Amino acid sequence: MEKQKYKLTIELVPSTVWFSSVYRIYKRNGRLNKWNKIKKELFEKEGKKCWICGAENVRLEAHEFWKYDDEKHIQRLVAIHHLCSMCHKIKHIGFWCYTEDGRRQLEKSD
Ligand SMILES: [Zn+2]
Ligand SMILES: [Zn+2]
Repeated sequence: MEKQKYKLTIELVPSTVWFSSVYRIYKRNGRLNKWNKIKKELFEKEGKKCWICGAENVRLEAHEFWKYDDEKHIQRLVAIHHLCSMCHKIKHIGFWCYTEDGRRQLEKSD
């Protein structure tokens, strides 16, 4: 049997999370304590390291893993994991390219 890839699975009603993020929903509703609880659980389950590269003693950002169903036009949150800022940037590379930081880094490598 294949080893389960995602350790933490959270599923939400799709219509409430379309094109949004859990973090933003909690923030908008003044429920950041709930978000902090998710982060605390991540630290307890996975330790203080990047889920992808395993980097420790770095700033960790919680990344939401979504699955998209193009036919039904829904997105489903499949997991949240802590990533170091480099791995997280890569996850959001399309967005990052347009941030100030992204532009600066990309110009440097020309
Ligand atoms: Zn990493
Ligand atoms: Zn992310």
